[in-house]
Order: sequence, then structure tokens, then C-alpha cells
Amino acid sequence: MPNFKTLDDLPGDLTGKVALVRVDLNLPMKDGSATDVTRVEAIKPTVLELTGKGAKVLLLAHYGRPGGQRSSTLSTSFVQGDVEKVLGKELMFVPEIAGPIVDQAVGILRSGDIGLLDNTRFWPGEEENDPNLAQAIARHGDLYVNDAFSAAHRAHASTEGIAHFLPAYAGRAMEVELRALDTALGNPEAPVAAVVGGAKVSSKLAVLEHLVGKVQHLIIGGGMANTFLAARGVDVGKSLAEHDLTDTVTRIMDEADHAGCTVHLPYDVVVATEFAANPASLRTRNVHEVGEDEMILDIGPQATEALADVLKTCRTLVWNGPLGAFETEPFDRATVSLARTAAALTQEGSLTSVAGGGDTVAALAQAGVTEDFSYISAAGGAFLEWMEGKDLPGVAALENTDG
Ligand code: ADP
Ligand code: MG
Repeated sequence: MPNFKTLDDLPGDLTGKVALVRVDLNLPMKDGSATDVTRVEAIKPTVLELTGKGAKVLLLAHYGRPGGQRSSTLSTSFVQGDVEKVLGKELMFVPEIAGPIVDQAVGILRSGDIGLLDNTRFWPGEEENDPNLAQAIARHGDLYVNDAFSAAHRAHASTEGIAHFLPAYAGRAMEVELRALDTALGNPEAPVAAVVGGAKVSSKLAVLEHLVGKVQHLIIGGGMANTFLAARGVDVGKSLAEHDLTDTVTRIMDEADHAGCTVHLPYDVVVATEFAANPASLRTRNVHEVGEDEMILDIGPQATEALADVLKTCRTLVWNGPLGAFETEPFDRATVSLARTAAALTQEGSLTSVAGGGDTVAALAQAGVTEDFSYISAAGGAFLEWMEGKDLPGVAALENTDG
């Protein structure tokens, strides 16, 4: 297990202390208010625990990509109302992240109050991880808490640099996420299965290369399966596939072979000649019978059943990427079916299931299994980099805090 301090390592009374808390407030917005406040729900336990102990909390967050300058449309003040609603507390908006205005705000805030600092990315030093900026922010706090796993793959002043100037702690959401990820790939119980699907092999090559050495079963679906099938000489017709990756696929298959990892490719698939909901040309075919004018849009029912049997023999599952073009019916079938199998096995206690990825989260929600997996990560880039086996700078900074 990664070694970091949590809120349990803090004294019971934080009266008079200022906690700088890095959070993720990139809420999807429509007409000036958030359409989904999951990210605020996630940080609520950490923020309320700190205010409950009497700390003054300063929330640090980036918002969109202003590119190192102030932008009138990307202030964190736009999410203030939504954050207040979820936390059930008023926030004091502070249009800076360091300097006399922040000093003044800290002077006005009382014990247990919360200040919302402006978008960290308005300052170029944030993304450059400038130690001067990190130190200037740190000067306002007595301790630093990072509760934004989704930003932990970036070495920025508010995610990495600041931990060099203050004692640093993982927030509750960060703690839960890191423990879940450790159970899934850090120290997993074998046998481990990984499902990797989605649109393109090229965007997830590093994930595949890392996983073949880590898991006993590598299940390939989605457009990735088409590329693998094509590389093995199967005619995939008009399917979405990357035809220039034959050598890469062959190398991955060889590496898997050496590592004792079984790669599962579908032997039946669902095809159509046009990409539309329930098209007249819908067929289920053996992979060797795909017509030249057909596209593979999902893996087939026999393959799905065989994969369910694989999961039944496994203790751990890590999942990124849908098995088919799940947004369009009926190409969600394999994804929904396998997700429900994984959910049932998890509920029976025989499987630990961890999933992540933007479209994966949506696909699993569509399957109605969000509550039944062991853990579903809302982090996109950070989750993928973790699946690649990379050290995340924001996490490493918590482990090696010099503050
Ligand atoms: P994630 O966001 O979870 O990492 P990706 O972005 O890699 O997942 O892939 C998701 C996309 O892949 C979805 O939009 C889905 O429609 C598409 N996809 C999956 N299988 C196929 C297929 N056989 N043909 C075309 N698109 C597919
Ligand atoms: Mg995606």
C-alpha cells in the first residue's frame, strides 16, 4: 500500500489552523449551473471533517484551461453556488490564490469557515510547477490536503509543488481511491482479469503493455478488438480498426504469452452495414464471416458468455473501455451483460471490481451497476496513467512530503 498521511494523522482540534485543500471543481455546467455535482459530493467528507475540527479551509482548484491568464469565463466563482448547495455552507470567494487579498480573507474567515480561491491556472506558475508560486500559496496555510485524484497525474504547483512546503495529507476521497486502485492492480488477489475496450488501440498501448505483465486474463473488446483481429489476419470489413498496428499487436501478444497472460479476443461479433440504432442489416457472425461492407460494433453473445465464465474464475477485475459502441442500441449488449455479471460476482463477494474512464463510467451507469462495483473512478487521465503503471506526481508528493 502506498504510504501517505491521512486526516487520521491530524490532531482533533484544528482551531486557528488554515488548511489548503486541493479539490476538483470541474463541474459540467449548463445555463450557469452544474448538471452533475458528483465531484462536490466526493470532497464533502474531507471539507466538513476539517471545518468540523475548527480549521479555516481554503479550497484550491483549477477550472478549465485558461492557459496561465485570467479569463472572465473560467473563474471558480461560477461553481460557488453549486458547491455551497452540496456542502450546506456558504463560501467566501477570494479572487486570488496568494498575496495580501488572501491574507485579508484568512483574517475575516472564522474557525470552521470556507474560502474558495480563484482558478489556479490563471497563474502560469501553476502548470509550470513554479516553486515560488507553490511557496507563495503554501504561506497561507498550516497544512495541505489533496482530495483531487483526478488532477494527480499533473505535477502542478497546487498538486505537487505545494507539498514541498507544508505537511501534506490525502483527503478522504483520495484515500478511498488510492486504496481501491491498490487492491485492483497494486497488490491484487489473483487471478486478475483486465477488460480493455474503447475506440482505439493506439491511445491505450501503454495500458496494454503494462497489463500483460500484471494480469492473468486480458479481455480485449471494442474497436481495440477489431485492430487485434485484423492484425491476426481476420478480415474486419469496414470496422473501426487501426491497420498499421500489426507489429505492435504481435509484440503485445508475444509478451502476454511469455508472461502467462491469456488474451481473450471474441469469436463472434455483432455487425451492421450502417451505424444506426437497430439497423435492418444487424447480424451476429463468426469473426471469420464478416462481410466486406460490414462493421463490427459489438462482441457477440457467445464471446460474452465465455468472458462471464472467465470472470467467475477470477478474484479481481479492472475495467477500462466499453466492449462495443454502447451509445447506440443494441451495441451495448455485451458491455451491459458482462458488467452485470461482474456486479453480481462482486455482490456475492467473489470478485473485487474496479473500473474507470469517461465512457466506461457512462456505460456502467447505463448497465445500472454503478453501486454494485467495488469502486468506479471518476478520474479520466489520472486513471489511465495509473493503469499504465506510472507514478502519479500528486500521489508521490503525498508520500514524500517534506513539509
Ligand atoms: P473510455 O472513455 O472509457 O476510456 P474510450 O474513449 O476509449 O473509453 O472508448 C469509448 C468509445 O469507443 C465509445 O464512444 C464507443 O462507442 C466506442 N466503441 C467501442 N466499440 C466500438 C466499435 N466496435 N466500433 C466503433 N466504436 C466503438
Ligand atoms: Mg473516452
